[in-house]
Amino acid sequence: MKEKVYFKTFGCRTNVYDSQVMMGALKDYEITEDEAEANIVVVNSCTVTNGADVSVRGYINGIEKQGKKLFLTGCGAHTKGESLFDANKVHGVFGQSEKTKINTLLSQETRFYEIGDLNYIDDAIVDEFIGKSRAFIKIQEGCNFRCSYCIIPFVRGDSRNMDETKILEQVYRLATNGFGEFVLTGTNVGSYGQGEGKNIAELMKKMSMIRGVRRIRVGSLEPIQINESFREILDEPWLERHLHIAIQHSSNAMLKIMNRRNRFESDLELFDMLHNKGFALGTDFIVGHPGETDELWQEAMRNAEQLHLTHIHPFTYSKRDGTPSAVMKPEINGTVSSTRMRELTTMIDANNRHFRQNVKIPLDVLIESQSDGVYSGLDQFFNKILIRSNEDLSGNWIQIEKYEVADEHNVAQF
Ligand code: SF4
Repeated sequence: MKEKVYFKTFGCRTNVYDSQVMMGALKDYEITEDEAEANIVVVNSCTVTNGADVSVRGYINGIEKQGKKLFLTGCGAHTKGESLFDANKVHGVFGQSEKTKINTLLSQETRFYEIGDLNYIDDAIVDEFIGKSRAFIKIQEGCNFRCSYCIIPFVRGDSRNMDETKILEQVYRLATNGFGEFVLTGTNVGSYGQGEGKNIAELMKKMSMIRGVRRIRVGSLEPIQINESFREILDEPWLERHLHIAIQHSSNAMLKIMNRRNRFESDLELFDMLHNKGFALGTDFIVGHPGETDELWQEAMRNAEQLHLTHIHPFTYSKRDGTPSAVMKPEINGTVSSTRMRELTTMIDANNRHFRQNVKIPLDVLIESQSDGVYSGLDQFFNKILIRSNEDLSGNWIQIEKYEVADEHNVAQF
């Protein structure tokens, strides 16, 4: 009887992809989506914030009490792996570069700590995405930016590209297996192609020619990566009508402190252009970074209101040991940060609702899940919709013309 393995994936889409690669590499074990019945748990961790570390640690403590065999991988293996290993909390720790060896690693009797090579290049190909109706395609890994608050380049390495032939083979296989929506992912995905005379827009054009590819999304881009070649694909029918472009802040003084490459004026020009083309616009934003005085916050809010933002991944600044920001002053009080976060998200939630109330074209929805006859999916603007239907819509693409705009999502009958 094969032992059952449960994967607990924290963090970003790149981790979702890495977990799928590990699932695909398991031969002598059975994968279960039910944690309770698992003998072995693989924790694919995140370490982007203190909160991420606390969640991973809390999860490991809980599983450890159940006596299951625990393995740690992912970005947290590089920051917390040694202390968790020394504290005998996990049987084995391995870096992302070791993930395709998982079938052997899980059967190792002796405890191990194999952090591997930070600058490895992935070449695995997966045929499916268990429990998902859209596919995540990792095209890039690592990051050459050096934002002063960020630990990621130290746990994911320098930017490097996946092999283009392998990427297209990957898309071909998944499209042949019925996937129509593809989400490009990486640590700094817009850096794809650097140093090889290639770029993400060219790659997306090639992907769009593969039979079955219906919609391509990009995980997150940096403002400077919406360059000429990317602007050429903005009207393509296969490109989602939503872009997530990470600005991180909207005050130039803060962007300088955070060692960011973008500036408000050029961000405004870019977001105006995309808004006028009908795109929904998302971003990452950090509030409460050291140096964010009341005055700079008010400037930032005035600027953010001009950017037509409809979606946001907001973060409260989290001190990461070893980063330049960790020693910066003045630090911002947690209550002040939460108030600023609420101010920002309230503004953007209102923008999102206004955007949904003013969409003039049918929604092109990929159904992702269902519960009690209510189906849930995302439209081309990356807005959620709940659909009540007596038909089985699982995994279907449907066009919705009539719907109601509720607070956080749209609602329809089908
Ligand atoms: S771009 Fe900046 S925030 Fe993003 S992973 Fe790289 S260093 Fe971190």
